[in-house]
Amino acid sequence: MATPRVLALTTGLLYVVGGCAVALIGAGLGQRQTVRALVVAVAAVAIVIGLALLGWGESLPRWCFHTLVATGTVLITVMVATAPTAQAEVAFAAIYVFIAVDAFFFFAWPQAVLQLGLMLIAQTVVVSVHGRGGPGVALALALLWTSVGGVVGAIVRVASSARVDSLTGLANRRGWDDELRSALDLAHRRQVPLSVALIDVDHFKRVNDQLGHAAGDDLLRGLAEDWSAALPSDSRLARRGGDEFALLLPGRNGPQALVVVERMRAAGRTQAVSCGVAEHQRTETGGDLLRRTDAALYTAKAAGRGRTVLSGQEHDSLVRDLAVALERQEIEVVFQPILALGGTEAVGVEALARWERPQHGLVSPAEFIPAAESAGLIGALGASVLRKACAGALLLQRSWGQDLLLTVNASGRELTEPGYGQGVLDTLRQTGWPAHRLVVEVTESLVDGSTERALETLAQLREHQIAVAIDDFGMGYSAFSRLDTLPADYLKLDRSFIAPITTSRRRLAMLRALLELSHNLGLMVIAEGVETPEQAQLLADLGCPLVQGYLYGRPLPPALCALPSPRRAADTGAGNPPPGQGRSRTPPADRLSAVSEA
Ligand code: C2E
Ligand code: CA
Ligand code: CA
Repeated sequence: MATPRVLALTTGLLYVVGGCAVALIGAGLGQRQTVRALVVAVAAVAIVIGLALLGWGESLPRWCFHTLVATGTVLITVMVATAPTAQAEVAFAAIYVFIAVDAFFFFAWPQAVLQLGLMLIAQTVVVSVHGRGGPGVALALALLWTSVGGVVGAIVRVASSARVDSLTGLANRRGWDDELRSALDLAHRRQVPLSVALIDVDHFKRVNDQLGHAAGDDLLRGLAEDWSAALPSDSRLARRGGDEFALLLPGRNGPQALVVVERMRAAGRTQAVSCGVAEHQRTETGGDLLRRTDAALYTAKAAGRGRTVLSGQEHDSLVRDLAVALERQEIEVVFQPILALGGTEAVGVEALARWERPQHGLVSPAEFIPAAESAGLIGALGASVLRKACAGALLLQRSWGQDLLLTVNASGRELTEPGYGQGVLDTLRQTGWPAHRLVVEVTESLVDGSTERALETLAQLREHQIAVAIDDFGMGYSAFSRLDTLPADYLKLDRSFIAPITTSRRRLAMLRALLELSHNLGLMVIAEGVETPEQAQLLADLGCPLVQGYLYGRPLPPALCALPSPRRAADTGAGNPPPGQGRSRTPPADRLSAVSEA
């Protein structure tokens, strides 16, 4: 119920004061040599134990404190038993109050009652059988200590309920933050490692929405139980609120903590969770440590959830380099064509960020976008990409001689940043790209589990004629039933959904149904990751309005981006455009080679 530090300080102080009390009572007796020697010995032992506890007690395991309280009972009983007068006997017995206070202050009810029971038996035996007090005094003292213990226990529990989560019985945010503070203090003084972990239940909102809040509560309670059983005794698990748990791992460095957390994750019931782990760095405050842990958790979620990420040096240096690249405007933008009419006519481009990291080469956006998100750089990155995307798309329009749709990706954190919508509008004004030909791509999970603010931002964009696309649909947990509530104009079918359509009849049937449904709901479908002529043919036959993929063109810088040729699309076997709508523009040979080389 208390931090190891408070436990050690209080118990140590009670031992020192108890020892002094024994010495003072003994000094007033002044008779037999043997009694005096015993008083001195017991007082000295108690004071030494007390001082040792004050100095080093906080690293002792909890069972040691149970032993210490029982030892206190034994020492006091010895003094009562050897007291030469009835007054001395009662005076020594008065020290039993410390046992009641300590036990009920720190131990759970059953353990405290056990300690009290032990003490009452010892006292009753020694006072009523051996001593001079008789059963009346023994009973009076027993009543006294029981009520003192009970009152202390009740007061402590009322006070500490503010630190306990009522659903799981674990510490709550307040309780855990206190423990973190004292663990940091101890790690600092002892120069021992300390790691923390933040744990988030994946798709918890769905459990609540689909199965009800009672099921959600059961899940949280069950996870807390499973994990508590699997964790080492010196760790401290807490529920910091909602579906977020926190874990304190004293004495463990990052890699060791990672092992503990992975074991804990495996012990939890079926629901997947994401975890971020960080080891405390010497100069870091608790707030810094939690921020880094949270960033690692965010990376785990962005990388697909159901995993643990250890905040590491490599991550930190990546973030540093990325910040420099952003400052120097070195994040570039490439464009991948989006085609209509069975892949015969280019109607737009998707802008994708590219970063050539010094000494490392090209870094995948799948790596640097989550890093930018976790480090708070995503706003600057998104704004820079949008600016370059607008400028590049204007160039493409000129060289292709036609109007284009421009799609850009936005990440979850970006949408919740204040001023995102206004920033987009400002960039459009400055670059001259028309709002009605901009599409912002967001992932479904973002729309699903996101805050009011993200949804408000999307609404704000749509009010200004900027379209919204749901990216990566069909990957992971997408549900058909969500389609009518998504605040979107376009639906981008993920590559993993498209890839099996030529081999799986069931997938083909799903695609057909999805196209029909989207059509009826007024959602424009873009099939992503089209790589083979067979896929292209099937999509054309099913009337998929828009397609995108390596078959038509890889993402390239604007200067190298050629207009995908109708001849090439027809070569793929994709359906022919309706009469009068096909373009017969033949691009120059150098453009064609740029496409085929890509
Ligand atoms: P995404 O938005 O789903 O982008 C499509 C990814 O698939 C791109 O990878 C693209 O190069 C790749 N791709 C396109 N056609 C094919 C194909 O036929 N076959 C295969 N195998 N892959 C294809 P990239 O450029 O590496 O981007 C990865 C992800 O990074 C993107 O997925 C997007 O989520 C994110 N991203 C990229 N640029 C940005 C950006 O500026 N801002 C944000 N927030 N995210 C970005
Ligand atoms: Ca995208
Ligand atoms: Ca996608």
